[in-house]
Amino acid sequence: MPIQLLPPRLANQIAAGEVVERPASVVKELVENSLDAGASKIEIDIEKGGHKRIRLRDNGCGIDKQELELALSRHATSKISTLDDLEQILSLGFRGEALASISSVSRLTLTSKPASQAQAWQAHCEGREMAVKLNPVAHPDGTTIDVADLFYNTPARRKFLRAEKTEFQHIDDVIRRIALSHPEVTFILRHNDKVMRRFLAVDKTDFAARIAAVAGQKFVRNAVYCHSEYHGITLEAWLGNEHVLRSSTDCQFSFVNGRGMRDKLILHAIRQAYESAWGTVEQPAFVVYLTVPPSDVDVNVHPAKHEVRFQQSRLVHDFISKTVADALQPQSDYASAGAAE
Ligand code: ADP
Ligand code: MG
Repeated sequence: MPIQLLPPRLANQIAAGEVVERPASVVKELVENSLDAGASKIEIDIEKGGHKRIRLRDNGCGIDKQELELALSRHATSKISTLDDLEQILSLGFRGEALASISSVSRLTLTSKPASQAQAWQAHCEGREMAVKLNPVAHPDGTTIDVADLFYNTPARRKFLRAEKTEFQHIDDVIRRIALSHPEVTFILRHNDKVMRRFLAVDKTDFAARIAAVAGQKFVRNAVYCHSEYHGITLEAWLGNEHVLRSSTDCQFSFVNGRGMRDKLILHAIRQAYESAWGTVEQPAFVVYLTVPPSDVDVNVHPAKHEVRFQQSRLVHDFISKTVADALQPQSDYASAGAAE
């Protein structure tokens, strides 16, 4: 076969393989877009574990009518325009790939109204080509994205979808994780019309209140709190005490500059700290927020951005490990009070 450029839709479907693994990855991308759009309220409706429908509504800045089609195109983003911007990235998105990818493997409807526009417009795309139709509709300020029949045209991917319940569990994990890093945003998650999560907005610095809503009052009450700063890096953490250790594989949350991570370096540092303070610990529970200067961290390592690369990885690792280990020392009043309960 001669070398030829892939048709755009096929290129998007291939890219979707990286970003859109399952319904939960769609939810993650859509919620991140709403946060980047400055939304203070995000409602997510799931039908049949997301197999049938994922619908998200936000009250963010909206998308202009002239930009709706562009928003659905690959490599189209309003978040960066130069390499310098990428080095200083603060937004959750920047690859300009999510909507193009998702729309290439589902029936997607995008409805939006910026406050400055009198009329809301709706774009629908599905099927063979990428032609997008625009229609005027009624819609409040903000954006609604409706993703129906995920993977309807990619049977190989559809085969890997798990039971409704399992897929919803993954979506629930995504929402809990994101909610932890944005206390100032209200999140409502429904499954088959039933409200499953309702996290009401609190002050943007009130992580404890949001952690209590997500991980339970008991976790926050018993946790060891620590806060430390070093060379422009800040760590704020709630560390589970012995009570919750064994039952808490689902309560390990770490964030770098507001982005949820499953970063090996952070996990390793925390595990090492628990081990040095308490001996072997299988699955410590923790919620850890790390803030580093954006230029010291590369977020463009993984398409789904689960991992980052720190410029000074050793320094970051040792800082986390030391701060956490110090906080966990039994002589700390808080820790021993918690452990004695
Ligand atoms: P990225 O987030 O990497 O820029 P996406 O494909 O996720 O790429 O989104 C493309 C663009 O569409 C964004 O840059 C943004 O301008 C716009 N957009 C997407 N979702 C929303 C939303 N909920 N509210 C406002 N604008 C949005
Ligand atoms: Mg995005």
